[in-house]
Amino acid sequence: MIDPTGAAGWISAGKSGLDLLRAAWTLMPKGAEKDRIARKLEEAELALELSNAKLAKELGFRLCQCRFPPLPMLWDNARRAFVCQNAACGRLDAVEKPPGARGARRRARA
Ligand SMILES: [Zn+2]
Repeated sequence: MIDPTGAAGWISAGKSGLDLLRAAWTLMPKGAEKDRIARKLEEAELALELSNAKLAKELGFRLCQCRFPPLPMLWDNARRAFVCQNAACGRLDAVEKPPGARGARRRARA
C-alpha cells in the first residue's frame, strides 16, 4: 500500500528537481549540448507525468483522457464534482456522493 502523504512529497520533489534543471538549462549558451539537454529534460518531464498518472490511478483517482499522459481529476467540494486539471478541457464529473461517503449509505426502506 502506498502512503499518499509520501507519494505527494515524492511528486513534489520530482517536479522541483526538474524545475531547477530547467532554470539552469535556460542559462546555458546555445548549441548542440543545450539541444541535447532540452530533449533529455522533455523525456524526464514525460516520465514524471507518466509516473504521476500511474500513482494517481493506484491511489483511486479518476483520470481524464483529454491528453497524454492523463491528468488526475481532483475533487471540488463546492461543485460536488471531480474536475480535470487541464483548463482547456474543464471536464466535470458530478457525483451524488463525495469520495469517502460509501460507508454513510442509508437505505430508503426501513
Ligand atoms: Zn480533461
